[in-house]
Amino acid sequence: MILQNLKKFQKISETKEGITRLGLTDWEDEAHEAAVSVFSRFKRITDVRDGAGNTFLYNGDGKGKYIVMGSHLDTVPAGGRLDGALGVAGALAAMQRVLRKHRDAPVAVAIWADEEGYRFNNGLWGSRAFIGAVTEEELLSLRDRDDALLAEVLAERGLQKKPRRSRETGELNVKFRYKAPIEIASYLEAHIEQGRKLIRAGKRIGLVTHVAGVRRWRLESVGETNHAGTTPMRDRRDALVPIAGMVGRLPQLVRGVEEGVITCGALGVQPGVANVIPDRAWAIVEHRAPSERDQDEIARRLKELVATTGPRAPGVGLEMTPLSAVRPTALSDDVTAGVEEICKKSNVEYMRMTSMAAHDAMNIVRVAPAGMFFIPSLKGVSHRPDEDSRKEDIKLAGEILYKWALAELDRVL
Ligand SMILES: [Zn+2]
Repeated sequence: MILQNLKKFQKISETKEGITRLGLTDWEDEAHEAAVSVFSRFKRITDVRDGAGNTFLYNGDGKGKYIVMGSHLDTVPAGGRLDGALGVAGALAAMQRVLRKHRDAPVAVAIWADEEGYRFNNGLWGSRAFIGAVTEEELLSLRDRDDALLAEVLAERGLQKKPRRSRETGELNVKFRYKAPIEIASYLEAHIEQGRKLIRAGKRIGLVTHVAGVRRWRLESVGETNHAGTTPMRDRRDALVPIAGMVGRLPQLVRGVEEGVITCGALGVQPGVANVIPDRAWAIVEHRAPSERDQDEIARRLKELVATTGPRAPGVGLEMTPLSAVRPTALSDDVTAGVEEICKKSNVEYMRMTSMAAHDAMNIVRVAPAGMFFIPSLKGVSHRPDEDSRKEDIKLAGEILYKWALAELDRVL
């Protein structure tokens, strides 16, 4: 059943270049509708789209707390078929099986909207709304590539009221209205690993105990434009030179930090003309590590690099400003122990691990016991069209979700 569900999602927005099903677009809506249709013949199942665009499918009257499984159905541009979809396909299949055994079971599926955050550069959108972490400032400041404001897009999609312009000040005002459709007793998410640890270790399941922290910084330098031919080297104030030098040295900053990674994935230069010396250059640098102490250490090294680069780039101003910081998150020991028990009983080889990618579970754990497990990614790739896992591992993910929900029911009932 999990494989059928996956096929259903795959058909939506699949192109030769992979799957492009961006969050907060019609493609995502269509995928959510396809998930709802799995339960079209189940009379006792209610489906709700909340004010953030999350979809919940729950059994019964929606009162009390629910055993919830889920993930997301949006992708990055030219993404793969499993990132997110695996967890939803598995949750739907597991819920159907549970209901066949226990008609009244308080089980639910949560499909978190816009996990990838591609359109507005934010991410984990739906699960952040669920835990009350969305700010009105974000709604009025984030714009997509076509300059559409997040608040306007939410209104267009029928999720929120239109922002209003104040008559006196001319400023836009908005109120984010959100009510969680159900309460969560415990939550489990299945996901592909998106890395190589499981494949390398020859394990089939990764129990995610922690999600790494992510900090982002903007490095910016200001110099002076001038003619690239007539300005002698000693008279230049080239803004790109110190930035480029720093980016080249970034890999050294995580030396000796276990699982520490650092990346410059965005870079800009102004005016961006071949025969003009740049007067402005910027780089966005992010680093991740499993512990806050390690994150502090990487940040310290980065600051030191900026401080020592400045004096060597005379006449060029250098600045480093924080953009965002997400602390490393511990997931629920109880949920992890529950999944571990199932692996042991079923003789499935597993290991504990840290997720270096962010996931919705790291938000949900702030309001309820929440856990996650991974299945191996073939070739260790993800966010690519060739992202894949072995069929038997995909089926195993569904099996574990089912068994976990049954065990949770035993605890609750
Ligand atoms: Zn994902």
